[in-house]
Amino acid sequence: MNDSYSSCARCPFSTKERLCFVGNGKSPSTCPTLDNDLIDDVRTEYSDPSIREFARQASLQEGEGYSGRGQGITAPKPSKPRILEIVEFARRMNYSKLGLVFCTGLSREAAIVESFLSDKGFLVVSVICKAGRIPKEEIGVKDHEKIRPGTDESMCNPMIQAFVLNRAGTEFNIMMGLCVGHDSIFLKYSEAYCTVLVAKDRPTGHNPLAAVYTLESYYKHLKDE
Ligand code: SF4
Repeated sequence: MNDSYSSCARCPFSTKERLCFVGNGKSPSTCPTLDNDLIDDVRTEYSDPSIREFARQASLQEGEGYSGRGQGITAPKPSKPRILEIVEFARRMNYSKLGLVFCTGLSREAAIVESFLSDKGFLVVSVICKAGRIPKEEIGVKDHEKIRPGTDESMCNPMIQAFVLNRAGTEFNIMMGLCVGHDSIFLKYSEAYCTVLVAKDRPTGHNPLAAVYTLESYYKHLKDE
């Protein structure tokens, strides 16, 4: 564990012992829960009514993602898939216009999601990653660095995806399968809050945790590379 920066992922205490979980709990010296100035700064941010309300609704949605609440500590069971949580959260926030950005490789799934959301009463503005058809060469990608050298390849263009949604005034943007880094640009330029429906992970069918769960077995080679 480094001794300068927060390292919650290496916290040596069980969840129920931790300071972030119980009053008078235990924590290492780098614990962010020990930093009262930081916590005051965060409280100040949450005092903004719009942020506070967004956070409140997110917490309500979190709670309602479980059935059996109030029936004992072990009773709550997860009950809602993320696609439904997105619909419910958007309704909580009174959003009517949603953005949907997607990878070309997920075009079929994006069409399904677009129909689902439209059927739920939302106006959906959707933008594919290749919109704009800007050649990869324009950002300095060499021919041999393309997926298929010798062919015309348009860059994935998360900036145009964000600009289209910003101009349309979407209130909440849903991301489906943008590449690592492309998703970062979209998040940087989107003016509306975003949520991720699909995190791209090509060989696992977009289930990144499959490789994480099997890092000691089938994906062990990743640790040696
Ligand atoms: S107790 Fe502190 S260091 Fe440990 S997980 Fe909680 S916030 Fe992080």
